[in-house]
This record gives sequence, C-alpha cells and structure tokens, in this order.
Amino acid sequence: MTMSRHATIPELEPTMSEHAPSSGLPRLLEGVPAQGAMTLQAHLDTHGELPSARRRDQRGATALIDQIEQAGLGGRGGAAFPTAKKMRTVAAGRGKPIVVVNATEGEPASLKDRTLLETLPHLVLDGAALAARAIGADEAILCVCESAGVGLEHSARAISERERLPGRWPRIVLSTAPEGYVVGHESALVSHLNGGAPKPTFSPPMPFERGVRRRPTLVNNAETLAHVALIARHGPRWFRELGLSDQPGSTLVTLTGPLSYPGVYEVEYGASLSSLLDAAGGTTSRVRAALFGGYAGTWVDGGALPSLALSNAHLAPHGASLGAGVVLLLSEDACPVAETARVTRWLAGQSAGQCGPCVHGLDTLAATFEQVCGGAAPSHATARVEQLAALVRRRGACSHPDGTARFAMSAVDVFSEEFADHARHGACDACARQSELPLPARTRIATAA
Ligand code: SF4
Repeated sequence: MTMSRHATIPELEPTMSEHAPSSGLPRLLEGVPAQGAMTLQAHLDTHGELPSARRRDQRGATALIDQIEQAGLGGRGGAAFPTAKKMRTVAAGRGKPIVVVNATEGEPASLKDRTLLETLPHLVLDGAALAARAIGADEAILCVCESAGVGLEHSARAISERERLPGRWPRIVLSTAPEGYVVGHESALVSHLNGGAPKPTFSPPMPFERGVRRRPTLVNNAETLAHVALIARHGPRWFRELGLSDQPGSTLVTLTGPLSYPGVYEVEYGASLSSLLDAAGGTTSRVRAALFGGYAGTWVDGGALPSLALSNAHLAPHGASLGAGVVLLLSEDACPVAETARVTRWLAGQSAGQCGPCVHGLDTLAATFEQVCGGAAPSHATARVEQLAALVRRRGACSHPDGTARFAMSAVDVFSEEFADHARHGACDACARQSELPLPARTRIATAA
C-alpha cells in the first residue's frame, strides 16, 4: 500500500514574508516537495535559521524547554506525554544525557514519521539538535526502521548535509532498528541501542533514568521533534494559535480506507473529521466504522462519524483517542469479523514472547476470533473474548496486551451484529474479499475450529 499524498486542511493561506510564520496550515508540511526530500538550503529558506545559531548561550537553550511547556506540546508517538516535562526530567538526571529520535513507526497504519523523513528530514533533525542542546546532551541518535528504504536514505543524506551548518551542534548519528510492532517501545529501543534484544524491558530503571550507555535518555517521537523545531523559531503563542486550549497546535494524521486520496494530512486539533475526509476527496464507498489510534486503538461506529472532531476530548466519549494520529476507515464491503481476526492474529505474532499472559492470552484471543470467523465458535465466544481481554490487561512488561485487548473489545462492541451473525452462520461472502486493513505482510487466519 502506498500513501504518499500530503495535503492540509483547511486550505493554506500564503505566508506574508520570506520567514514569517504562517498563521494557519500547513506548518510541518509547509513547502513539502512533490518528490524527494527538501534540501538543507530549501529548508532554511522556508523556515529560517535555527534560533540557537543566534542565541548560543545555555540560558537560550534551556529557555526552549519553557517555551515548549508554554506551548503545551504533547508527544506525538501515541501517549501524548508532555514534552517539556520529559525534557526536564532527563536534564535533571545523573550523567550526560542523550537524545533518541524514535522514528521506527511500527504501527502498520501510520506513515507520518516515514513521510517526515522522506520529505522533510531537516525539520526532525532541527528538533533533535535543539532538544539535545536544551537538555545538555552532545549527541542524538536518529533511530529508523531498517525497512524504511527512502526514509533511511534521505535521513543519511540530510545528516551529512548538516555538516555545513554554522556553529557547533550536537552530533546526530543514524541507527536502524528491526521491523516490529513493539520495537518502538522506549525500553525496547534503548535495549536495542545498547546491543540487546529489541524487546521491552521490565522497568525501572526507566530510559529517562538510565538508558542508552546508562545515560539519562530522552526518547522523542520524530513528529514531536519537528514541532520543537517550529516552536523554537516562532514561540508558544504562535503554536497555540491553532488547536484547542487543552490540545493545542497541529498534528499529522495518517488517513486510510475507501477514500479518493488516502495519505498523510496535517490538521489542527479540533478540526472536524468531515473536513479531513473532504480534503481527502471524500469517501468512495459507505463507511461501516473508523478505527482511531491504530491497532491499539478503538473502533467508532460509522453513524457517529459525521459529528466527530479530531481531538482526544471529542473522541473520549467514544473511548477513543488519536494516538499516533491514525484514522482508518473500514468500508461496508469488508467483513469486520475477518478483519478483526486477521489483525488480532498479527498482533499476537508481535508479542516479544517474554510475558506469559501476552504470549498465550493474545494467541488464544486470535484463535477465538478465527473460530467465530469460521462459524466454529462456542456459544459463549463473546464472553470468552471479554474474559481473555481482562486477563491480559496490565499483565505485560509493556502496553501491547492492553492495546490488543482494547482493539478486540471495541471490535466486539461496534461489530456486535456481525459477530452474532458469524457465530450463528459461519463465514459470510465478504470474508473472502481482499482485506482492507493494512498489515506489513499478509497474515493468514485459520478459520478452522
Ligand atoms: S507484554 Fe508482550 S510485547 Fe510486551 S514485553 Fe511482554 S511479551 Fe513482549
């Protein structure tokens, strides 16, 4: 599946002068090239020089953390943790800190970080350099999935281009991580960078206490750092001109499903879902439901979508959140039971294999869905799913079982009619259709009992 289109909503206003910040959108995606990556010179022409090149003193660097706090920037990796709080904690740790840019993006339904690296790598690298300087680090590691291809190539080229930047900047090195859903978990990434297995570790110590090379480690998502690059240039007031008071600014959303132009879009928090769908050229078939937040996220019934807005506060009554900015539409042509079984089987296969409830619980959960799909489920299958979901929650070293349980339970809830039909009659015609939900490789589901 290719999603390379970049667009913005609402339509952008022209900027007033060469480096004057736009009062609307796009922000991150300003000047995004139709092909290839923005060069360093084009990047500086678009956004202006790095502020710390003008203010080299340490006060100027730490003042950035205050600005980020005033901006109210939350992490864009899924957890929305306050970025400034994280930076302060690492800066106050024992020893020389280090920055890790998490651009591994193990969520199959998300392409935003890959898009940033492929097209606008200097925005991410600016943020990494500025964050490193702000916390007193002299090194940042840009961690990219080894399958990222073009993103990897463009990142390497951008890092070497930055040798021409004036002034002394923290060193940025490129590192690859293996493909995998839980590899992007902070502790898994740190373990991998320390030469261990790319698996979540039992904490404490947490990465911010003792991470890469036993140093206090700031792990930030790539998009989060891209926002840092712009806040440092334009300030917190500018950042808050878009979005909501409790969720300010803009965010990248990977939008996929039956649409004319699926892709990565920049939206302000609080924008209506309808405006995003319009920007994507509208839907091409009737929508049964939308999944928010990716495969650790929550389904919302199609009937509720017209009134939805894109913010965690608006999604909360539906038990959903934007997570890492994923909105995935499922058409009425698909079979939600088969789709749920296939994704759950894939999620079970992503277990790092070190916590019993995760290994066995998720496998049994996937098998139960497969039984329902094949019409071989026991009469209490739905209750069994609920029981399994409750059993695995908070029973792992990481949140993978919790996310899978959330996905499974919301599927059973939103697609209750389809589950009941399958339990009674077995597979439907749509079961055999091509699946709509994206996965890295085709995942076979066993439909036999
Ligand atoms: S909960 Fe699952 S994915 Fe997370 S560390 Fe344990 S076995 Fe690995």
